[in-house]
Amino acid sequence: MGLTCEVCGRPLDGVPSKVTIDGAVLRVCPRCAGRGRPYLPPPSMRSRLSPRPSQRPRAPELEVDPRCGAMVKQAREKRGMTQEQLGRAINVKASVISLVESGKMRPDLVLAGTLSRYLKVELLVPGGELES
Ligand SMILES: [Zn+2]
Repeated sequence: MGLTCEVCGRPLDGVPSKVTIDGAVLRVCPRCAGRGRPYLPPPSMRSRLSPRPSQRPRAPELEVDPRCGAMVKQAREKRGMTQEQLGRAINVKASVISLVESGKMRPDLVLAGTLSRYLKVELLVPGGELES
């Protein structure tokens, strides 16, 4: 299935010329190429479009509430759990619970999220809302 000249219908050998004739872009044989204007690809639109600045409001980054230690302790005691029981329940060492509760350790987001879910307290707050 060879290409044919879109003007005269002759089979095209090799690379056809692209020309613009009356606004249409046609593949033509060299003989017909002179009947149109050389086809120039439009300048890439893409290069002129600057990368769209991110307008989407970013999901606020969560931070661990600085008061999380007291919150964990309170929630745990409300449930009548020991640090060991809480630790076992969420698969962390009791010593970690102790450190968190005493404020000596700020839990990371994962641990804080786990504690939040388990104790039904909100230990994660959107960043920037709290002075830490
Ligand atoms: Zn032709």
